[in-house]
Amino acid sequence: MTKSNGEDPRSGNRMERFQQGVRKRTLLAKKKVQSITKDDVKGYLVRNAFVLFTVTGVIVGTAALDNKASGKMGMRAIVYYMTTTIIAVIIGIIIVVIIHPGKGTKENMHREGKIMKVTAADAFLDLIRNMFPPNLVEACFKQFKTNYDKRMFRVAIPPNETSVVASVINNVSEAMETLTRMKEEVIPVPGAVNGVNALGLVVFSISFGLVIGNMKEQGQPLRHFFDSLNEAIMRLVALIMWYAPLGILFLIAGKIVEMEDMGVIGGQLAMYTVTVIIGLLIHAIIVLPLLYFLVVRKNPWVFIGGLLQALITALGTSSSSATLPITFKCLEENNGVDKRITRFVLPVGATINMDGTALYEALAAIFIAQVNNFELNFGQIITISITATAASIGAAGIPQAGLVTMVIVLTSVGLPTEDITLIIAVDWFLDRLRTTTNVLGDSIGAGIVEHLSRNELKSRDAEMGNSVIEE
Ligand code: ASP
Repeated sequence: MTKSNGEDPRSGNRMERFQQGVRKRTLLAKKKVQSITKDDVKGYLVRNAFVLFTVTGVIVGTAALDNKASGKMGMRAIVYYMTTTIIAVIIGIIIVVIIHPGKGTKENMHREGKIMKVTAADAFLDLIRNMFPPNLVEACFKQFKTNYDKRMFRVAIPPNETSVVASVINNVSEAMETLTRMKEEVIPVPGAVNGVNALGLVVFSISFGLVIGNMKEQGQPLRHFFDSLNEAIMRLVALIMWYAPLGILFLIAGKIVEMEDMGVIGGQLAMYTVTVIIGLLIHAIIVLPLLYFLVVRKNPWVFIGGLLQALITALGTSSSSATLPITFKCLEENNGVDKRITRFVLPVGATINMDGTALYEALAAIFIAQVNNFELNFGQIITISITATAASIGAAGIPQAGLVTMVIVLTSVGLPTEDITLIIAVDWFLDRLRTTTNVLGDSIGAGIVEHLSRNELKSRDAEMGNSVIEE
């Protein structure tokens, strides 16, 4: 990694000095605003609002459905999630094979002894384990439990080497801190947002909601309580969001300045970035709208227009989970999607349905293979598709979680995991784009599931008279 830091500021002509001054001032402003942005907006949304909002939302949504209807909706959502994720992976693979951004230039291909033993099975087991947190309160604050913990790491990686990769596996925020030290400057620490075991909370809330739903009259007070708590959180989040655009603006502006300073974007990395963007665009503006149109038979662009605020928030926060309250708001208020659907499918979607991440993981793995002049055969490409799907399901809806689960994809075909460091430099940016695609995928999914479930919703309405969840 080359650095332009440490140059004599007096060197160069007036123009250079002027540019250095501008950079310095932008960095200063950025640091100030960043410290507020990352700690307050993301931290606040994820740690507090997300937990309360998700729990209350899912409980209310599920309590308003009967068991049969929720089972059917769940199945529809899962079929949608799997179909779109697999399509995304295929797009990623086709695009990276056609564009071939990583034309081999890297002489050193293999570094012995650094490949970790993290498998797709680990990711699935983690997923199952996280569904049933031993302690609910702890699930609100603690990081996800994973198999790729420090113990495994010590076994797999010699202690003094590739500390950046080591940290990525253990904790995204540690990785960022390591990078911070390496670059001797402050960068945003997205992983500083404490991971919340959303899946565990969602599973609990669905069970709780189902129980309340079955209690009929007796469950009414609880339904009213959670409904009103949910509404209060929604209003609180709406207030905070007024302040978000300012922070986001500085965050991105500052990051661009930093990238320039780092001087690490080589031709390959730039091509890689373009390739990811093209892949995500194909999925987001062709595949998903087309799917919506084919199933719902309505104009997808009107639907997407209603999601604008959520998409911008995803772009700004790099976190589907942090965006969740806004996604609810857009879907329910702007697009009129039934609350029983959004509350039921969105929280699960935000954790397991990540089309952007799946596309990105498959594409990035093949890029790393290309950079290493590593010829992948058809079997290996299939392995990448399967593990990228698993890795996207296993990734949490928090910033740069996709980088963590990337290890699964790379190890499955024997690619060097430390090469994740090659793409870290642009991940802050690509993460935003894939998160936006993730949120779009979840939202279109909610629209499609609502359309397919209209009969169940109608009969439930008839059964309940006037539903408590309706406004
Ligand atoms: N940041 C993404 C999300 O929250 C996950 C990822 O890193 O791909 O959806």
